[in-house]
Amino acid sequence: MSRPYEFEAIERKWQTRWLDGRAFEVTESDPRPKYYCLEMLPYPSGKIHMGHVRNYSIGDAVARFKRMRGFNVLHPIGWDALGLPAENAALKHGAHPEDWTRSNIAHMKSQLQRLGFSYAWEREIATCDPEYYRWNQWFFIQMWKKGLAYRKKAAVNWCPTDRTVLANEQVIDGKCWRCDSEVVQKDLEQWFLRITSYADELLDGLDKLPGWPQTVLTLQRNWIGRSEGAEVEFRLAEGERSIRVFTTRIDTIYGATFVVLAPEHPLSARFAETSPELAAYVEKAKAEEREKRLAEEPGKTGVATGCFAVNPFTGERVPIWVASYVLMEYGTGAVMAVPAHDERDFAFARAHFLPVRVVIQPPDASLESEEMDRPYPDEGTVVDSGPFTGLPSKEALRAMAEYAEEQGFGKRAITYKLRDWGISRQRYWGTPIPMVHCDACGVVPVREEDLPVVLPRDVTITGKGESVLRENEAFINTTCPGCSGPARRETDTMDTFVDSSWYFYRYTDPRCSEMPFRPEVAREWFPIDIYIGGVEHAILHLIYSRFWTKVMRDLELVEVDEPIENQLSQGMVIKDGSAMSKSRGNTVEPEEVAGKYGVDTLRLYVLFEAPPEKEIDWTDARLEGPARFVQRVWRFVQNDLDAISSASPIEGQEEWNEAETALRRKTHQTILKVTRDIEDRFHLNTAIAAIMELINGLYKAIEPRPARSESWKALREATEALLQLLSPFAPHVAEELWEALGHDKPLAERSWPAHDPTIAAEDRLTLVVQVNGKLRGRLSIGADEDDETIKKRALEDENVKRFLEGKEIVRVVVVPKRLVNVVVSG
Ligand SMILES: [Zn+2]
Ligand SMILES: [Zn+2]
Repeated sequence: MSRPYEFEAIERKWQTRWLDGRAFEVTESDPRPKYYCLEMLPYPSGKIHMGHVRNYSIGDAVARFKRMRGFNVLHPIGWDALGLPAENAALKHGAHPEDWTRSNIAHMKSQLQRLGFSYAWEREIATCDPEYYRWNQWFFIQMWKKGLAYRKKAAVNWCPTDRTVLANEQVIDGKCWRCDSEVVQKDLEQWFLRITSYADELLDGLDKLPGWPQTVLTLQRNWIGRSEGAEVEFRLAEGERSIRVFTTRIDTIYGATFVVLAPEHPLSARFAETSPELAAYVEKAKAEEREKRLAEEPGKTGVATGCFAVNPFTGERVPIWVASYVLMEYGTGAVMAVPAHDERDFAFARAHFLPVRVVIQPPDASLESEEMDRPYPDEGTVVDSGPFTGLPSKEALRAMAEYAEEQGFGKRAITYKLRDWGISRQRYWGTPIPMVHCDACGVVPVREEDLPVVLPRDVTITGKGESVLRENEAFINTTCPGCSGPARRETDTMDTFVDSSWYFYRYTDPRCSEMPFRPEVAREWFPIDIYIGGVEHAILHLIYSRFWTKVMRDLELVEVDEPIENQLSQGMVIKDGSAMSKSRGNTVEPEEVAGKYGVDTLRLYVLFEAPPEKEIDWTDARLEGPARFVQRVWRFVQNDLDAISSASPIEGQEEWNEAETALRRKTHQTILKVTRDIEDRFHLNTAIAAIMELINGLYKAIEPRPARSESWKALREATEALLQLLSPFAPHVAEELWEALGHDKPLAERSWPAHDPTIAAEDRLTLVVQVNGKLRGRLSIGADEDDETIKKRALEDENVKRFLEGKEIVRVVVVPKRLVNVVVSG
């Protein structure tokens, strides 16, 4: 009778051993090459959800694999522990945000340990620890010294009923989440980090990140949104003032028939002084949310100022309008409107009966201004544009910008969509901004030796009124570091994205108390070799992290320009067609699945169901596959435990029969495939599929039961390889069976199996090559060549090539082990 598979006892046994034996702790003084494997740190919301399980199972498989491959693997975890939900929970349950957070961390930590992830727990950090956030404050002061942190007025969401600032998440359809009042925008003095100083470097750096997904690179490129163009001065028809416009299309300037100002533009307020209608419009537009304004149909709203500006190229007077579709923060807050060649200007012109004038003709048509039902925004030939007429629009861009520079009314300019990072939050549960307001000295940073500025514990969260910190006299009142007179502390706290912008450096030196981390220690580990997390962090978190690293480099704390070498955005886990969420009631609790099938089956499921980047559509029934697979492995080893473990090791002198040769070939082919799938491409699902095939091969090899001792040698080799290959994915069952086979050194400390290419090599196969179904050639291939290589070789074959000349290849089909068919047309 073989032992039943009692997964819970097995899991607990190994988890205890790993923790007690400090199995995954690492040091820098290690001769092995380093590998830094990181998953995005969780927010301690209450419990681990399936998205976490997937994210960490991917990271854990890679970390375990790399350890077995001989790397010194840093695989840490921590908690992104500050932020709004803790305050919401405080409101809802009356718990202190800190208590709520700490108890969630304790619970989620035990969950992660029950899932058997191989973390270096001694390096655990929580961003709500004053020992951690003091370094946020220290960084802030360094940035302030360098002019990278500054204060300016900016709009916040304001609930007039609760008299409180709302986070974007607390504004639902323009209304307050608590009392349903209409949210308004209010200007407050706030702190900003000058990320725009690094705009060019952040953009150019994207070209040096081949290990990042294209989608993330594109999202970041668009977010930075660099455009090259020109700034041109439009003088007012009366008076001395002028309007500076930014345009990427100076080649269309002869077609500018009006100028539009953003409501926030200083001149709008000036014009509004004499126009009540305009004043009302400006007020209303300023109170509106930015997103709403952008989404709005351009042209729906706008007011004429009654004043005119002069187009410097034509000397023509054009009317000045104010309209909310122009944003102050992009370019100069003023645009020259060219309705014939711009979508938004066109819509606005048609709505307000403003003239449309064609100045670019497409190569293949002749546009008439009166007949246009949509603008022509592309390149073409410049027409009706004085001395520039006849130039291709690309050339005109350069020529006209040069002309404007010579004449002194314009210059070439670059603009970005990227805005400085507003980090002020009028909330409690965040890092206090370490500044002091003094009537005599102005705004002064806290002395570095006085850090951290600790969040007071004694607060009551009400969700109403100003920030709770403002009501805390003991916190606010302090002495000025400059003149020692009475002063008030800044009450804004930092955006939690600050916490996560540099936390991964802290893991390298988590208990350092002199500085954020010792540069010489961080240098041993950076850059991060693989960083795994959701694609929803493609922009903010991953761009702020890059920015922070560049600032740290300029502070001479780190040597790298970029913190992350390879990035993997894992797909979501959805169920019934949508993301798992409590409100939809379609969540699946990891603990329930693990309780029913075991942790190894759960981990195999999330890794096997789809490639890491793709979505998983959760299907309970599909857990049966990995569950059966684990059972099959268990039974195979247990049933023949004695025969396998007593087989002697292979010496190299054996004469193998056909079945043994086939099994050994399968073993070594599987080692090669699994190694490549994980190492080169993180194709964990196909790696698992290969291991599943190997267990099938093992069952075949004992049917009928072999008698030769050589057969048992081959079986032992295959079984041991199977367990080694399985261990990154299903570590508990693999360790248990490995130990059962008589090994005293656990798999986690073993090296990865080597593959022998001579044993793996299959006899060569001959494939026939057809073109449109007719036999045209033959191809000799190795058994391990993949379809792409076979297709390439078929198309390059001399005999086949003759039949492809002058034809278009529609598709190439490979029928495994038989033929290649090339479908051509023409
Ligand atoms: Zn409210
Ligand atoms: Zn002072």
